[in-house]
Amino acid sequence: MQVPFLDLKAHHQPLKQEFLEAIEQVIDANAFAGGPVVAQFEEEFAAYSGTRFALGVGNGTDALWFALLALGVGPGDEVISAPMTFMATAEAISYCGATPVFVDIDPQTYALNPALVEQAITAKTKAIIPVHLFGQTADMDPILEIARRRGLRVVEDACQAHGAEYKGRPAGSLADAGCFSFYPGKNLGAFGEAGAIVTNDPALRDRMQMLRDHGQSKKYHHAVVGWNGRMDGIQAAVLRIKLKHLNKNNDLRRDHANFYNAQLADVKEMVKPVAASYAKHVYHVYALRVANRDRFMAEISRRGVSCGIHYPIPVHLQEAYRLLGFQAGSFPVAERCAQEFVSLPMFPELTVDQRAFVVQEIRAFLRAEKS
Ligand SMILES: *Cc1c(COP(=O)(O)O)cnc(C)c1O
Repeated sequence: MQVPFLDLKAHHQPLKQEFLEAIEQVIDANAFAGGPVVAQFEEEFAAYSGTRFALGVGNGTDALWFALLALGVGPGDEVISAPMTFMATAEAISYCGATPVFVDIDPQTYALNPALVEQAITAKTKAIIPVHLFGQTADMDPILEIARRRGLRVVEDACQAHGAEYKGRPAGSLADAGCFSFYPGKNLGAFGEAGAIVTNDPALRDRMQMLRDHGQSKKYHHAVVGWNGRMDGIQAAVLRIKLKHLNKNNDLRRDHANFYNAQLADVKEMVKPVAASYAKHVYHVYALRVANRDRFMAEISRRGVSCGIHYPIPVHLQEAYRLLGFQAGSFPVAERCAQEFVSLPMFPELTVDQRAFVVQEIRAFLRAEKS
């Protein structure tokens, strides 16, 4: 048996006719760049997120960038975030002309450790970006409390957390703005690049709307220097269909994660993901920690199971950030995770046979290691 890491074909097949009809409607309406279908998706995604507004943008990186720009982040400012994330979180900070300041992650949830945030704040700190890594939110209350007390803005990187909850409230709705990616492999994925920002703040919404559309207040009136960061109509049409299936698909992911956790409960050599008591975890990624990760991955792939690594190099040790001057040892939890993380196959359509095969091959690997 072969178990892929992700199976987008299986994900799209049952809805293919519905997608084709929706795309045909976009073609017939000439609603390609922004427009009425995007507006419909925005309304539905805001309702799903429990926020007043949602804005469709080009991708998740745009979403983070526009949110920071609209909050006034610029040259000379510092923005605190986690070193264990996809590069885009830090890129958005850098593309505002600001400097990313990293704070190590919590060893259980792998999100920004609130206990370490305060000591990273300086006179230049403007904002905090907690990353809801793997589908579980950061512990937001202490982060929001620090931000309130110190006059900082908070932007959630919810690019891996569509449908996740913190104390019963939707990811993305907890701070000044919440940023989502609809890259095809995300829990809610488009047919290409797309993203969204959600917020309850009308002034912030207006600024972000201008930024994504060349700074236009109305057609050919450019109030600020913006960018082309609109969502495509075709992506919105696809996302409207997929949004209706998101909760059901997240439930399937949670069931697969519970299966892996239960089946591997006695395996002491592997650290399993833990859902915090505050969290509804939606398992964008199911990451184990394994000491001999590289041999594990090679062996398990030879046995037919495709795994991934999210992420092998923490952001502060990336070559692109060499000028920031971080050394190995700066953020020990993130660095250790980067060496040990391995992501098992995780997608809603994973079959009972496939997930049982994954566990069987992990156990066979462990037996072979011991003998
Ligand atoms: C995917 C992702 C992004 C970027 O989203 P794009 O749509 O690829 O630009 C940002 N942050 C995190 C944590 C992500 O997983």
